[in-house]
Amino acid sequence: MPFEGAAVAPVQPLINLPPAGARDPRPGLSGLTPERIADWLTDHRQPAYRGRQLADHLWSGAAQSADELHTLPQGLRMDLATQFRVSTLCETEIQPADNGLTQKALHRLDDGRLIESVLMRYPARGWRRARATVCISSQAGCAVGCPFCATGELGFERDLETSEIVDQARFWRHWLAGVGQRLTNVVFMGMGEPLLNTERVLEAAAALTDSGRFGLGARHVTISTSGVVPGMERLIAERPQYTLAVSLHAARPELRDVLVPLNRRYPVRQVVDAAARYAAATGRRVTYEYVMIDGINDMHDDAVALTRLLHGQRAHVNLIPMNLVAHTPWQPSSMERIEAFALQLRGAGVGATVRRNRGAEIGAACGQLAADRAGAPPPAAVARRRELLVVESAAALARPGS
Ligand code: SAH
Ligand code: SF4
Repeated sequence: MPFEGAAVAPVQPLINLPPAGARDPRPGLSGLTPERIADWLTDHRQPAYRGRQLADHLWSGAAQSADELHTLPQGLRMDLATQFRVSTLCETEIQPADNGLTQKALHRLDDGRLIESVLMRYPARGWRRARATVCISSQAGCAVGCPFCATGELGFERDLETSEIVDQARFWRHWLAGVGQRLTNVVFMGMGEPLLNTERVLEAAAALTDSGRFGLGARHVTISTSGVVPGMERLIAERPQYTLAVSLHAARPELRDVLVPLNRRYPVRQVVDAAARYAAATGRRVTYEYVMIDGINDMHDDAVALTRLLHGQRAHVNLIPMNLVAHTPWQPSSMERIEAFALQLRGAGVGATVRRNRGAEIGAACGQLAADRAGAPPPAAVARRRELLVVESAAALARPGS
């Protein structure tokens, strides 16, 4: 669902994508509940243990096609193949970075749409165990259009199916098994706005955290949102133990209107209020993501506004140097500036961590590979967009009280 109703139209997508191909009507198996699979097997006169065999292939095994469901009889495999897809990822290209600690995948879907997922491995350090975090996409493209984000340049293409979301995690579990490692965390920080595809994202998160399916602990799943308040309300009502990350990027409303255009629909105070209620309902600390952009949102007054906004909240701020991926007129803040900003926050009682970008050399901020494949936008469109952003951000910064 694209987002509608903004008072001012956000910056338009830069890239015109080719039309999508036809969809494969067969649902992906990993998006079906165990009950639905059990019913299907019963209808096909199969004993209950076939459900367990199929689940083994899906959740711990490597099966990507019905041919690989080798413990099932040939006839059943053929029936399954006519009605379902074992994997919804048609082709995957992998690019390594950071000496192989980061791996970025570009997945082609049935209709030719491209989505990305990223694996980030963190070796054991001191008392901390080794982790392997997978960052997955929830939509192809994104309607929010944050002007520093490569996915935002693509505009909205379509929502992903539950199975398309889950299959990204299955893909990496299988890849990691090949190198003798375990997948420990999943973050919804790839392409798209998870809470504009809430139903499927929650179905996917349920599959990923079901002990009979993917089997991750709920606390090992993070849902990141640019601040879709109705989706946050849904989370508050359901009280899952997922970690909630809010992409803030600015505390001053006028500036956030520019950096996260959804702010025009769901103002930052409402977003922080909803996040606080999520923290109260679940007992989980909320993480705030803040991409640092030189001379735009990294100044003394920004830190003051941020500490006022988050004062007394059960919250932690991650400061991330902007990855130079998008056609913006802006530069990342210097490391010294980011460290000074972090000190200012901590001094005012707000927890803050400086994050270093992983895989920056291959554009690990999701969406860049897909945007590159879509071709370079016309230089005149890039120039117009830059000009508009300079004007909009300068106007936001000049407004009294901002
Ligand atoms: N749409 C959701 C989740 C996907 S974006 C959201 O915005 O939260 C995941 C994170 O990547 C967000 O915090 C986003 O702000 C960040 N991001 C996007 N472009 C980036 C860039 N150029 N440099 C650094 N981080 C970026
Ligand atoms: Fe969409 Fe998130 Fe990128 Fe903003 S940062 S355009 S919400 S994917």
